Amino acid sequence: MSGLRREDGPAHRLDALRGTTPPKPHDARAIAALAANPGCARRALMDGAGVDKDAAARHLGFPAPFGQSPFAITRGNAFEALVKADGCAELLRLLREVLGLPVAEVAYHDVENVGAHLRHTHTRALFDRAARGDQDAGTLFDHPLLSLEIAGHVAFLEPDVVAFQLSGRFHVVEIKSFAVVDGQADPGAVAAAARQAAVYVLALRTMLEELGHDPLTVSHDVVLVCPENFANRPVATLVDVRRQLAVLRRQLTRMTGLDRLLAALPDDLSFDLRPGEDGRPTRPVAELADALHRTTARYAPDCLSTCDLCFFCRDEARQEGASDLLGRQVRDELGGVASVAEALGLADGLRDPADGQEEIAGLLRNAERLRRECLS
Ligand code: SF4
Repeated sequence: MSGLRREDGPAHRLDALRGTTPPKPHDARAIAALAANPGCARRALMDGAGVDKDAAARHLGFPAPFGQSPFAITRGNAFEALVKADGCAELLRLLREVLGLPVAEVAYHDVENVGAHLRHTHTRALFDRAARGDQDAGTLFDHPLLSLEIAGHVAFLEPDVVAFQLSGRFHVVEIKSFAVVDGQADPGAVAAAARQAAVYVLALRTMLEELGHDPLTVSHDVVLVCPENFANRPVATLVDVRRQLAVLRRQLTRMTGLDRLLAALPDDLSFDLRPGEDGRPTRPVAELADALHRTTARYAPDCLSTCDLCFFCRDEARQEGASDLLGRQVRDELGGVASVAEALGLADGLRDPADGQEEIAGLLRNAERLRRECLS
């Protein structure tokens, strides 16, 4: 994957946008969230520049509503430990069920046993041997350390575990502690897990390609392991992440081609927090807010679970009366009508449609007529 280099113009401009703080590394959760709102220029710019969005949101007085409770973290860790106990014995049982993994072919490698600084190199060597078909290379790889280049920065990623089947395919395994009840799980949680697993699939495919192997030996079917019916007994399901992979690729390509977005920004625009000697931001809040307002956001209610700036952008959308507040589906159907006031004006005929709005204006007038008929 190509990326911006520090000495290039756009990379220099991204450094200037970030200002005096070092770039914030991306983890898999952050990269997965990129795919949640690919149309947002504000997010693409801030992530491309490596801006700490959480710190910016706090300084602006709009801290993000994220962070798991200590109870949820403990529960998640306990469930992962159960699945991986005794050399992943329970996981192997599940993999045999969903992938048809033959017992005799299982060999377990925990890459975490290798020194931290060597983990990435060791991971590459292990997967290289496994992809070549070396008999002793292993079947299950726990704690591998993968990497992915995001707008010129290398992000290191740790999948929960990667299973390798001797018939020639790698499968990413994602262990999550949300429950599957009667075969159903929270669709939002499954979608987030699928986006995160897609990041690992892409990182693994990139690594295999760099090593000269066929990247498609990494399956787009990931194994999602969750507790069943609120008990701790794990259950595994195959989840197809092709759609998430396509969105992620598009968004990463967009981030490595930020030139067009950068060219539209004023030269003096910066998201710098100007940290003082104690590391706390010293930049006047109004000045930072003004810098953000000068970039185009695409707020949607989904932002509330995926982006640190969600409360700031929601407040901005409320003040503007933006149609974005009504959700992505309504926004897409209103294509080109930016505010609720504009939509209402077109619906009751008090506002003339601008060029290109004739069709949506007709639909809105029709909907308004039907509404009046129903009410009367
Ligand atoms: S919260 Fe704001 S910056 Fe983040 S994705 Fe949504 S609109 Fe973009």
